[in-house]
Amino acid sequence: MLATTASAATRLLRTAADSAAAAAAADELEATVRAVPLMRVYATWPADGPAPWWRGMAKTVVGGASKLGMFIPIDDRVAMASYTDGALADEWNDAEKSGEIEELLWRELRRAFPRQTARVGDAGRPERVYAHYWPEGVHCFAPRADGASDAALARRWVEPVPRLHLVGEAFSAQHQWMESALQSAGSVAARALA
Ligand SMILES: Cc1cc2nc3c(=O)[nH]c(=O)nc-3n(C[C@H](O)[C@H](O)[C@H](O)COP(=O)(O)OP(=O)(O)OC[C@H]3O[C@@H](n4cnc5c(N)ncnc54)[C@H](O)[C@@H]3O)c2cc1C
Repeated sequence: MLATTASAATRLLRTAADSAAAAAAADELEATVRAVPLMRVYATWPADGPAPWWRGMAKTVVGGASKLGMFIPIDDRVAMASYTDGALADEWNDAEKSGEIEELLWRELRRAFPRQTARVGDAGRPERVYAHYWPEGVHCFAPRADGASDAALARRWVEPVPRLHLVGEAFSAQHQWMESALQSAGSVAARALA
C-alpha cells in the first residue's frame, strides 16, 4: 500500500513494482495528476517595537495584484504574513532562495495595508521572516483530452497492479484537502474488505 504524493508513487511504481502494468500505471499517473505547491510565510516582530500595526485586524484574503494571498494575525509578535499556492508560492520560494524575501514581504505588506503600515513607517518591518514551502502541497487533475473520467482514474488507483493500493489525497477523484485523503482511504478499505 502506498500512501504518499503522486510523484513519489510514480517513482515507486517504476522501481519497486517491476511489471508492464506498474509502468503503465506510473505513466498514467504522471500524465493525469499535477502537484500544486503551497507556501506559508511567517513574520515575527520584536517585543520592544512600536504598537503592532496589525493589532485588531482579522484574517484577510488579499486580492487584486497583491502577492500576499492571505494574511492571518496570530498575536502581537507573530503573523502568518502570506499564504499562497501555485505560481505565487513558487515566486515566494524563489525570493526566499535568492535572499529577497524580507524585501518582498515588506513591500507587499505596505501595498496591501497602506493605512496601518504608514502609522509606524519602516519601524513596522518584521524582524524575522520564516518561509515554509511544500512543493507538492496538494494535487489536481492535468487537463486531458482522452475522455477518461476522474472517477474511472481514481478507481484504477485503488489497485493499479494486483495487491498494490494507492491511498491519499493525490489519488482521489476530487483532489485537495483532508476529505480527499479520507475518500481515497475509504475506497481502498472497501476494496480490501470486499
Ligand atoms: C500548508 C498546507 C495547508 C493545508 N491546509 C489544509 C486545511 O486547512 N484543510 C484541509 O482539509 N487540508 C489542508 N491541507 C491538505 C491536507 O494536509 C492533505 O490533503 C492531507 O494531509 C493529505 O493526506 P494524505 O494522507 O494524502 O497525505 P499526507 O498527510 O501527506 O500523509 C502521507 C504520509 O506518508 C508519509 N510518507 C511519504 N512517503 C513515505 C514513504 N516512502 N514511506 C513511509 N512514509 C511515507 C509522509 O511522511 C506522510 O506522513 C493542507 C496542506 C498543506 C501542505
